[in-house]
Amino acid sequence: MEYEPVIGLEIHMQLNCATKMFCDCANLPGEKPNSSVCPICLWMPGAIPQFSREALEKATLTCLALNCEINLRSAFDQKVYYYPDLPKGFQLSQFHRQLAKNGWLDIIDEEGKPRRLRIHEIHMEEDVAKLVHETEGQKRISLVDFNRAGAPLVEIVTEPDMRSPYDAMEFLRALRTQIWYVNTADCSMETGTMRADANISLRPKGTDELNTKVEVKNMNSIRAVGSAIIYEIERQTEELRAGRPIILHTRLWDPAKNITTPMRGKFSGPCVPDPSVPDVILTEELLSEIRSRLPEMPAQKKARFMQEFELTEEEASLMSADREVADYFEAVIQEHITPRTIAQWISARLLPAIKDRGQTISETAVTPKRFSALLAMVEREEINSSAAREALDLLFESDKTPEAIVEEHHFRQIGDADQLEAVLDRIIAENPDAVENFKKGKTQAAGFLIGQAMRASKGKANPKLLRELLDTRLKSS
Ligand SMILES: [Zn+2]
Repeated sequence: MEYEPVIGLEIHMQLNCATKMFCDCANLPGEKPNSSVCPICLWMPGAIPQFSREALEKATLTCLALNCEINLRSAFDQKVYYYPDLPKGFQLSQFHRQLAKNGWLDIIDEEGKPRRLRIHEIHMEEDVAKLVHETEGQKRISLVDFNRAGAPLVEIVTEPDMRSPYDAMEFLRALRTQIWYVNTADCSMETGTMRADANISLRPKGTDELNTKVEVKNMNSIRAVGSAIIYEIERQTEELRAGRPIILHTRLWDPAKNITTPMRGKFSGPCVPDPSVPDVILTEELLSEIRSRLPEMPAQKKARFMQEFELTEEEASLMSADREVADYFEAVIQEHITPRTIAQWISARLLPAIKDRGQTISETAVTPKRFSALLAMVEREEINSSAAREALDLLFESDKTPEAIVEEHHFRQIGDADQLEAVLDRIIAENPDAVENFKKGKTQAAGFLIGQAMRASKGKANPKLLRELLDTRLKSS
């Protein structure tokens, strides 16, 4: 029997708020252990949590960026369980009345078709403390770091709409893009500010049953989410083919061995309304004020780039996927250079060069102003593209203007017909065979001669003019 995977994701995303969710401690989970703590987030008996307005605003903006309906009234519950990273015995989370529901994100699936993946709900939650396992001499010890305790989280729960590991990875990428646009979270799976658990089940292909699912945790990259799902589909297929039923449980992804292993369950109790935190009420005014903070989102930007600047779909996607790249692109555009030329230079040359140097686009020395000055010289045919590529490399290393660099390194192209004719005289005289071949109908011989002339001009000949001059010569000879 052919099986089809049914996949849903649960994503914990840490909001980049200045403080924790229920106290004024700085939200700095990576700092020196237990340096950002107080009686509230150490969960001392009697401490009263104070809900952060910033957390509410950032959580709401996150939900809006993910196309959710916002519930004006939501509330916190106590999710009761016991674990060493949660000594108070419950986590504040929204179980009965969540902040938002019915969201979605669009992806392009493996076959190139657009697909809408639904989000069931998003709720707010406090993070738990972190266990650090070490050895002290021969002894293995576990330490508790409370810096993360009480950090503001949202949990995004999708519908089981994904049908392949690819869908799940694309959903996470689209999610990250949306959130980076509104800048409410860092979304790094590597550092743990985004953690994705995958729920995976199988069903006979063509049916719409929902079978027992297995939850997989502990993936520290989007790629690892894909690998864990691939492994789990294979494992469950084998189990079903061998006639063994799938049992509801949680497994841990082991990145070293590329397998999932069953995890010991936590004792999990009920969810009861929390009496210490009042209901969360958003007014219509505050909600519309937060809505007005939504910037132009990637999909809208992409459509505008295609219409306004006549970019192809692929170019528009590349220019809109990252907000900093989009801003950079538009900053260069203001300098009156063909937008498609700019898009192509940014994606083919600038971004790879920035990446090679381990920089980000906002911190690079190649500012939009300098980059556009360089491209303007290409557009005016003062330098050709191979010289521009060399000049771009030099722009990273110095603070001179592109014009100064071009002068200093003699990059200016030769657009003088007399000078190029002299070069051609020599090349034609030195390569009689190529000229003969061209006359016999081997047109590629012209390419060879152009290459030779280019080399003779040290790469500085205006290629268009050179070609025209050569064509005239070959036709008349
Ligand atoms: Zn605190």
